[in-house]
Amino acid sequence: MADERHQILIVEDDSAVRRLLRTMLEDEGYAVIEAHGERDALARLASHDVSLITLDLGLGRDNGLALAQRIRARSVVPIIIVSGKGSDVDRIVGLEIGADDYISKPFNVREVLARVRAVMRRTASAVRTGDDFVARQAFQFDGWICDLAAHRLTRPDGIDVKLTTREFAMLTAFLRRPQRVLSRHQLMDFLGDDDADTLERAIDTIVGRLRRKLKTADASLIETVRGSGYMFTVKVKSVEADGAP
Ligand code: CA
Repeated sequence: MADERHQILIVEDDSAVRRLLRTMLEDEGYAVIEAHGERDALARLASHDVSLITLDLGLGRDNGLALAQRIRARSVVPIIIVSGKGSDVDRIVGLEIGADDYISKPFNVREVLARVRAVMRRTASAVRTGDDFVARQAFQFDGWICDLAAHRLTRPDGIDVKLTTREFAMLTAFLRRPQRVLSRHQLMDFLGDDDADTLERAIDTIVGRLRRKLKTADASLIETVRGSGYMFTVKVKSVEADGAP
């Protein structure tokens, strides 16, 4: 565990508060990185695997709530808001947009540590934020949007469609190679599946489920090409995902 210290990102524009938080978190055995604003914070998240974020709401010109929202759109990394804006509204909005906890300034050092430990316990598995924040690509097709970073598929009417990890991997394989026939073997490769259980039949099953979820009024977006495999039938446009810095 010694080399696998949890890394905490402190987002705070006040250097004295950053120092205070850093000292106490390091004393507790956490590795600490700092950011003083939004751009900085997103850059740190893209280059480090962060296990937890403490986030100030008043970040000079940047808005901490907006930042929390952008982070949450891409990652499940735990966020504890540590803020001098102690209003109930901020607290409620903060928790509503997915912050895990909220601490008002001036804070008590022991309280902050207790909250950090509690949130860490709840989210025991390590969060790897690096990939979430590096990949910002999204695909558009036929009114649909597939946001790779957020692992989100949105229907033309704006409703999100839930996909399993494998369905999502399969969809992105198609989106990267639209209007081309892909064999079942190719699709197995794209799934990165070294699982011997993945037979061609399993590919058919995943395609079947994906097809149902991608159902539109018109024709199927995924066509069966007899004897060869499958083809994603419509044009795909690569765009920047929403909320990219
Ligand atoms: Ca501040």
